[in-house]
Amino acid sequence: MNSSAIDHCAPTGFFARRRRKRLHSIMRRRPELPEYSKRAIVFAPHQDDEVLGCGGTIIKKIAHGADVDIVFMTNGRRSHAGMMEVSDLIALRETEALNAARVLGVAADRVSIFDLPDGKLNEHRDEGTEQVRDILARLCPEEVYVPSRYDGPDDHLATYQFVMDALNTLKQTPRIVEYAVWFWHHWPWVRPDKRIVRSPIRAVANAVLRPMRMYREFNVCVDISSERDQKLAALAAHESQVQRLMPNCEWPILSDVSDGAWVAACTQDIEIFSVRNV
Ligand SMILES: [Zn+2]
Repeated sequence: MNSSAIDHCAPTGFFARRRRKRLHSIMRRRPELPEYSKRAIVFAPHQDDEVLGCGGTIIKKIAHGADVDIVFMTNGRRSHAGMMEVSDLIALRETEALNAARVLGVAADRVSIFDLPDGKLNEHRDEGTEQVRDILARLCPEEVYVPSRYDGPDDHLATYQFVMDALNTLKQTPRIVEYAVWFWHHWPWVRPDKRIVRSPIRAVANAVLRPMRMYREFNVCVDISSERDQKLAALAAHESQVQRLMPNCEWPILSDVSDGAWVAACTQDIEIFSVRNV
């Protein structure tokens, strides 16, 4: 979705459209990620974050011959808790994660799923950091993808912190690439969803601070126009997140968030990153 196509579900109004167009064009002029062929690990809190945050860039890296591993920090047991058996839900999310990885070009033996509880990663700091440390020590990546430190939900922030802590103990200094997922959930990209941002003051603060952060912190932009269809196909492989598998119940899907504007923001023709150790 390019900046004009996003307009059908994002906030309307002259000022919102103009602001969005301006931010998109500023980001588009950011330097591109150098050396796509670097060996990488993508750490994703949940099954779908790897696609939403950096799916297009993974596709580009694979095309450039890079080895890419994907590590899911949690087992996905919470997304539809109470709507199906927990063990079935965990198995389904695993199958979907492997299918999505295959669409991105990542083989099943390069996908790891930690059995840590979805939504409670923070309560497993030592265990999580140790597992991240083991995988970093084994693979010695040249590049590490993590959710932005400004991204939002606790599992995303915990993932960032576990990876940073593990890198510090290992004294490894790969290129750090922070990607945006929930970071996009602010005006002018979306009308904040009250189920996610409950306080109106927080929504206003995000609308002011996040564009400033976007401008200041996100220093790299990858044009994924050519990879976008493949990214959308990978997202579609996370069926439980994009289709109501049980139509007669309140099965939540990604496009429920802000009437589809958030997922549209995550699947634009660009992916933005805050990159260190370039
Ligand atoms: Zn997530």
